[in-house]
Amino acid sequence: MFNVFKQVDEQFLSMRPEELSKKYQDISLIHLEKGSSARTFVVSVLIHGNEKSSFKILQGFLAYLQSSGLDYSLLILLGNLSGTKDSMRHLKCQPDFNRIWIDPPAKYRDRVLHALQYIRGLNPYCLIDLHNNTGSNPPYACISTLDKKSIGLASLFSGSVVYFPKKLGLLIDETAGDFPSVVFECGVSMDPKPIDLAIRFLKQVIHQPWSYEELHRLGESVKPQKTVGRFLIIGASSKETIGFELASNIESKNFKGFLSGDEFAKGPKVSSIRYVADSGEDLTSEIFICEGESLRFKKNVYPCMLTTNLDVALSDCIGYLLEEV
Ligand SMILES: [Zn+2]
Repeated sequence: MFNVFKQVDEQFLSMRPEELSKKYQDISLIHLEKGSSARTFVVSVLIHGNEKSSFKILQGFLAYLQSSGLDYSLLILLGNLSGTKDSMRHLKCQPDFNRIWIDPPAKYRDRVLHALQYIRGLNPYCLIDLHNNTGSNPPYACISTLDKKSIGLASLFSGSVVYFPKKLGLLIDETAGDFPSVVFECGVSMDPKPIDLAIRFLKQVIHQPWSYEELHRLGESVKPQKTVGRFLIIGASSKETIGFELASNIESKNFKGFLSGDEFAKGPKVSSIRYVADSGEDLTSEIFICEGESLRFKKNVYPCMLTTNLDVALSDCIGYLLEEV
């Protein structure tokens, strides 16, 4: 068990996220209670240490909540603050905090399990996990269940709702069965427009809280898309020896699509790019055709979260393909 903070000082609202680790450990909870009958919102930030928009959004929302006098409790989950200090997704010695919420690794097990137990004990209205993308993407929402309430809540933030059928160990994988749980992907880190959008969304939700019945009805009218596979780099350990270049425009295809014939990458080692379905099946030859050193799409496809950042692509993936659920 660990200490749950029950208040924040005034500096919290103007603090730089890099300073958080001076006061808080990785995976810390701050519970700002407003009496036992108040509804609780859970907002998680900095699960990826370098995705700093999340903290800016939290500061904007918290300042508003404190001045509004509205009857809401807020539970804040602070994620990977060591990573934030060094502007890294996670430190080299750490796991990806976006993968530890199911079957947590030993070093973080107690804190993860305690945080989950504490969150569940509050029976919150919803959980919103705030992230950024490495590559350029419009703001969108992610869900890990086809529960209509979560779909409805996600659709209030963005018309693009992405369903992850595969359980990756996300925070929402663990909580979505208990209450509406969504991830908001707020563009690249510190882009002001998605930050404003997310703050406006949070304000709106507390002013006009949708009942679960309303969220369910709304969710019935929304068609999410699901991830069906990812682009991986196999057999390369560093970007210096990678042996190919990703086409410079791939990020502009996120939520827009590639046409058959579009180039994805070129170079002598393009064959190390594999497209692997969620089932684990390698479907590279169904998606791509290799002409000399040019890797091109064989058919029209609809991607999201593509990044040209090779460090991220090597440690996670280049991006995903989507299909309608
Ligand atoms: Zn993230």
